[in-house]
Amino acid sequence: MPAAPAPTGLDAPSHPAPRSGPARVRTGNGLSAAETHSHTIASDGMVTAVDLVRAAASIGLTVICITDHDTIGPLEAAIDAGASLGIDVVAGEEVTCAFPPGVHVVGLFLERPVRMHMTIEDTVDAIHDGGGLAVIAHPFMPTWFASITERRLRRLLETRRIDGIEVRHTAPVLPGTWKRLDDFCAAHREGVGAMVAAGDSHFGIHDLGRLVTVYPGRGAADLRRAIEARRTSPLRGVVPVPPPLSMRLGQQRRSLLELNLKRWQGKVGGRRPARP
Ligand SMILES: [Zn+2]
Ligand SMILES: [Zn+2]
Repeated sequence: MPAAPAPTGLDAPSHPAPRSGPARVRTGNGLSAAETHSHTIASDGMVTAVDLVRAAASIGLTVICITDHDTIGPLEAAIDAGASLGIDVVAGEEVTCAFPPGVHVVGLFLERPVRMHMTIEDTVDAIHDGGGLAVIAHPFMPTWFASITERRLRRLLETRRIDGIEVRHTAPVLPGTWKRLDDFCAAHREGVGAMVAAGDSHFGIHDLGRLVTVYPGRGAADLRRAIEARRTSPLRGVVPVPPPLSMRLGQQRRSLLELNLKRWQGKVGGRRPARP
C-alpha cells in the first residue's frame, strides 16, 4: 500500500495565480483534490450544483461533495455535467443537530437525506444507516453555535466512531485553535477518522478550492476509500477572486432569512419526529 500523503501544504497557496483563467489546484503524482463541503441554491449557497461542477473542473478538482444544509437538492444535472467534465459529484448533507447548540455534522455519500435536529449521536447513526460517512464540520469555533466543542467531541467519541474531521476549515477561529485541533486529533487518532479540509463554498468559482482534501486516486470511489483508510490530507488550494458585495448580501439574506423560513415550513430538514 502506498504511503499516505503527508499533511503538509497549509502554509501557502499551492499555485500562484496564472496569467489568464482561474488558478488550478496542484497535487502530487497519483493524488487528486476534492472539495468535501459545499453549498448551492438548495440551501444558502448562491450557485447551482451545475455551476459548482463547472467551477470544480476549472480549478482542477476531481470530486465535489455537495453538502447543503439539511437537504439534498436535485443533483442529476450536476452529475451529467460532471460526467462530461471528469468531475464526480457526491451527494451529501450538512446536518444541523439539536439546539442548543445545533452542531453541524457533514454526511457524505448519502443515499437519502438525514433529518435535522437530532442528537449528535443519532445524527452520526443516521448518516451511517444511510450508507454515508460522518464528518465533524468546522470544530472548535469560538462560538458554540453550530460547532462542536472539544469536550463534547470527546464525549461523542466515547460511544461513536466518526469517519473524518474538518481539521482545517474556512470558518473564523481564535489564535491557537489549529494547534488545539491538531493536538486533539493526535490524541484521538483512532476515533476522529480522516483529516479533511473544508472550503465550505457558498459562492461557486468565487470561493471554491481555498482548502481542499487531497487523496490517492482520482474519482469518488477513491475518495471514499481514502477517507475510510484515513489517507487524506488538507491542502491550501487556490485564491479565488472574491464574490461581489451584492452576492455576499444575497447570501446573508438566504442564510439568515430564507433558509430558516424553509426549515420552519418543513421544506428543508426532513420529517419532524412523530409525537408520542
Ligand atoms: Zn456549518
Ligand atoms: Zn457549510
